Amino acid sequence: MARIGVFICHCGENISRTVDVVKAAQEASGFRGVVHSIDYKYMCSSPGQALIKQAIKEKNLDGVIVAACSPKMHEPTFRRACSEAGLNPYLCEIANIREQCSWVHEDKTVATPKAVDLMHTMVEKTRKDTDLYHIKVPITKKALVIGGGIAGIQAALDIAEGGQKVILVEKEPSIGGHMAQLSETFPTLDCSQCILTPKMVDTARHKNIKLYTWSEVIDVKGYIGNFEVTIRKNSRYVREDLCTGCGMCWLKCPQKKIPSKFETGLGMRTAIYVPFPQAVPNIPVIDKTTCLKLLKDRCGVCEKVCPTGAIDYSMKDEIITEKVGAIVVATGYDLISCGLYGEYGGYKDVLDGLQFERLLSASGPTAGEVKRPSDGKTVESVAFIQCAGSRDPSKGISYCSKICCMYTAKQAMLYKHKVHHGQAYVFYIDIRAGGKGYEEFVLKGIEQEGTIYLRGRVARVFRKQDKLIVRGMDTLSGKKIELAVDLVVLASAMVPNKDITNLYQKLSVSYDRYGWLSESHPKLKPVETSNAGIFLAGACQFPKDIPESVAQAGGAASKVLGLFSQDELAKEPLVAKINTLVCNGCNMCVQACPYQAIELKDLKDKQGKLIRRIAEVNPGLCAGCGVCVTVCPSHAPDLAGTTEEQLYQEIVALG
Ligand code: FAD
Ligand code: SF4
Ligand code: SF4
Repeated sequence: MARIGVFICHCGENISRTVDVVKAAQEASGFRGVVHSIDYKYMCSSPGQALIKQAIKEKNLDGVIVAACSPKMHEPTFRRACSEAGLNPYLCEIANIREQCSWVHEDKTVATPKAVDLMHTMVEKTRKDTDLYHIKVPITKKALVIGGGIAGIQAALDIAEGGQKVILVEKEPSIGGHMAQLSETFPTLDCSQCILTPKMVDTARHKNIKLYTWSEVIDVKGYIGNFEVTIRKNSRYVREDLCTGCGMCWLKCPQKKIPSKFETGLGMRTAIYVPFPQAVPNIPVIDKTTCLKLLKDRCGVCEKVCPTGAIDYSMKDEIITEKVGAIVVATGYDLISCGLYGEYGGYKDVLDGLQFERLLSASGPTAGEVKRPSDGKTVESVAFIQCAGSRDPSKGISYCSKICCMYTAKQAMLYKHKVHHGQAYVFYIDIRAGGKGYEEFVLKGIEQEGTIYLRGRVARVFRKQDKLIVRGMDTLSGKKIELAVDLVVLASAMVPNKDITNLYQKLSVSYDRYGWLSESHPKLKPVETSNAGIFLAGACQFPKDIPESVAQAGGAASKVLGLFSQDELAKEPLVAKINTLVCNGCNMCVQACPYQAIELKDLKDKQGKLIRRIAEVNPGLCAGCGVCVTVCPSHAPDLAGTTEEQLYQEIVALG
């Protein structure tokens, strides 16, 4: 490139506070090949972009450097501006003088020469840039949604309503997720089942949705627009085409004392069961770990009583492969185990929030009566302990679980609705009620429903006769407190599902140190993941309430529909290329590539005789990470847009 323009952004004051942008522009004008160099307050704004376009045309630029924020932020914006002015977008480079310079320095005399150096490296790189063109990849217009909680249900319905096919995979026998376990929901106190179950039915009935329940994704290959997923459909031992959900089998099954996961261990189920009466699909599964027939070849009652002959003990798991163009991950959350908190005693009458939801629920194990699990007596007083696990780095969780303040306020209120003479106490550190109507909801609990809030951590819970003693500190009055209550409810920390990172590794998506899914950009790409074509929704990203989960699911669905609105996808051309003349087929890049984008192919002569094997990159799969470049002993791979020669020029520019 011989005619390069350098455009230095002040980023308001983000850059200009620490970098002398006027001086930097002057210095840049002296770099080899630079014919234009200016600074401007907001280069990403419309007038800023106009400056770039105007200079490209008037000065006949063949390369552009924008010295500004991280390329993650606005590289596409500036490349689009260049393209609109007739310049190949890949002749535009970003010198990151914000995150890599102004934000990490305070001294202008240090930051300014560093910014100049960063610009110089980019000028030298740009001199070796070449025109690059998008790679066209076809799109399979079918989406996969993993997880059938409210987020997955909403995403699937929105995509299906948008006219596209969806496969919804849920690992439990029914869709519904945690919302199906809730009694009533804050801040409006709607009955959870009443607002959820119609959506569950719509999902199962929708002509564009194929439901795989009791199923798991076991493998994922491919790339945006072209994923191939392998699903294991676990055997129900009940034929879905014959079962009418009449319930004869679970009514007669003699194995009746198995703790129910849906009832959080507070209720029992049979060996053949549907997790809850409103389950979708309303088809039972046989639990092979407790069924007498499958374990010991005895019993067989369900087969005898089933009026439609739906029971099939010989049924096997099915392995299904599906091609999809996009994936929405909506795998939700779990609660940290109460058992981790020795100070709270581990008594039968110490429950977590979801267990208390089941006690409150009209369809729960006590039909909505708030009874002590230990002896079935009505709970006359209850102490809620917030932040049980959250905001406690000593137990490994420093974050706030965000929704516990709200559901605790709700549970205290609902308890009072059931036990009018009862008393609810809430131990809290501070109340976080940042949502529409949330603050008012908490105040209503205090002012109208008589919930007593005590500010302080609970040090210990222990049993004394038939009561639980809650010992803590009221930090507002400075007094020690001891309350004798019938039940303790822990607002336990929300955590990602156990072992979920195995799935995330198969999907090649990033997650944080806790196992929450990472979004591609915390502000600008909140539903995209690090792997293009894979989106996230709901509490798999971080604790969320229902409105937030539904909103994010809608966002993920709109991204999928946007992707499917095209027939072909224009993928960035910044991918690896193999120099076949020097590749000796050693296989090292094939093994190193984290995206399985390289294969060894036969190189044949004109007569079809094998010469040798060489590596070949699938540009659709290649993410341009550059690992192959670093491992190849023959220097055969190189990255378009960041070649080895360009890197060398950048280093030379630094002197
Ligand atoms: P989930 O409900 O967790 O659903 C995830 C689904 O994915 C599940 O069905 C799960 O089985 C499935 N899944 C997981 N892994 C896989 C896999 N590998 N393959 C296939 N499927 C998988 N919010 C409110 O707005 N109001 C309330 O009153 C309220 N009360 C609450 C009370 C308590 C005690 C708690 C703990 C939460 C409460 N919430 C409330 C929050 C609410 O539960 C969540 O906002 C909501 O459930 C999030 O939905 P989700 O679909 O993201 O996750
Ligand atoms: Fe289905 Fe047969 Fe059980 Fe009725 S008895 S729910 S038809 S498996
Ligand atoms: Fe229950 Fe298994 Fe007997 Fe069927 S065969 S009734 S599932 S124990």
